[in-house]
Amino acid sequence: MKQGAAHISLKSSQSNFTMPPSASVETAEETEPPGKCGEPPQPLLNRKKYFPSVPDGLWNDWKWQFQHRITTIQELAEYLPMPGEEIKQLEKVACRYPLSITPYYLTLIDPADVNDPVRRQSVPSVLEINDLMQGYDDPLGEKGDSVVPGLVHRYSDRALMVTTNICPMLCRHCTRKRDWNQKGMVHSREEFQAMFDYIREHKEIRDVIVSGGDSLSLSTARLESILSALRSIQHVEIIRIGSRYPVVLPQRVDEELCEMLSRYSPVWFNTHFNSVREITPESAAACDRLLRHGIPVNNQSVLLRGINDSVEAQLALCQGLLKIKVRPYYLFQCDEVRGTEHLRTPIEKGVEIIAGMRGHTSGMAIPAFIVDLPDGGGKVPLLPDYVAAINPGSYLFKNYRGNLYSYRNPSDGSNVNNMNSGAGEEHLLASALPGVEA
Ligand code: SF4
Repeated sequence: MKQGAAHISLKSSQSNFTMPPSASVETAEETEPPGKCGEPPQPLLNRKKYFPSVPDGLWNDWKWQFQHRITTIQELAEYLPMPGEEIKQLEKVACRYPLSITPYYLTLIDPADVNDPVRRQSVPSVLEINDLMQGYDDPLGEKGDSVVPGLVHRYSDRALMVTTNICPMLCRHCTRKRDWNQKGMVHSREEFQAMFDYIREHKEIRDVIVSGGDSLSLSTARLESILSALRSIQHVEIIRIGSRYPVVLPQRVDEELCEMLSRYSPVWFNTHFNSVREITPESAAACDRLLRHGIPVNNQSVLLRGINDSVEAQLALCQGLLKIKVRPYYLFQCDEVRGTEHLRTPIEKGVEIIAGMRGHTSGMAIPAFIVDLPDGGGKVPLLPDYVAAINPGSYLFKNYRGNLYSYRNPSDGSNVNNMNSGAGEEHLLASALPGVEA
């Protein structure tokens, strides 16, 4: 998934629904049923307020959703109240880092909460341009690993195809926000052919990631032509799709798309939920459609300050994902991207969160915490340190409660007698220590 293209104006003039001005919008207090104090407004109520005359048929049409993305601050201010001074400041931000929010995703935002986790991922912040000295435009050095236009070959057995730079939503933490002001681009047939030729010539490539931008921004027919060409290359074993559509425009993941993807099995799908608030009946149904067509769905989230940087937020997200049968796979440290410093957390925070989850939920709900190294250094997993001491013949481990346990380390077979006697001594030694359970 890469950057989108808010600058492409695909606004439709033909539909006859009305976008209500803020003056006519009923307040949440007037329309919400009684609920728990602080409960966020229901997306359905927001839809009723913001898009009262859009029938279900249009609302569920992904092309309508795409065409009616909110791409200006003025437009956004019709839905989310903001003072005039803030509008001016955000317009400056949008000149450098544009915005694009689908109507569906807009309805997930609590308009009364400026720190809403859905809002912070999608609405520009003045902090994006406050500290432009920090970070890099291309922190992962992706341009350097591009072998032909659109194809990145960094790890020997994997290749990444950047099919387009168009995304339905522009996520404020995006690693590729450097490209947001470029024109919307889909590679030409000749460029795709050059990518397929390269993959065909490099027999070590067994795994191809079809990404962008977001490759689901292409028509289903166009996407099928790419998958079909990849499947004709014998050494390509698996195809992965990286897409945030299930989260920000789940209507795109329709039966036609899933049926097409199922014809090119094995296809794996990696999506990008960051908050439990993004798990809705619509996004759950999109993932379910993929799963029912035999397409496994994994989640790759990004650790973001004030959005999901607590044990509670991660537990809610990851347990919510398991409930919709999506596996929490990676939790990424937010890359060192210019314009995202306010969303980044210290590395220790990620390790602390993983430590806080362990023992309090199933291992299936705990993603690997990953730092993607600068300049193409690759991914490094980070784990809390559970080893308190390494002794001859044994390890002293600290569990999630902080209790110590001695564990005999089996010999590698070269010195069985010595190892056995040493292990026994350490076991006794450890169990004699206060707080140590042997
Ligand atoms: S979906 Fe969001 S994070 Fe992914 S490439 Fe597009 S803008 Fe960037």
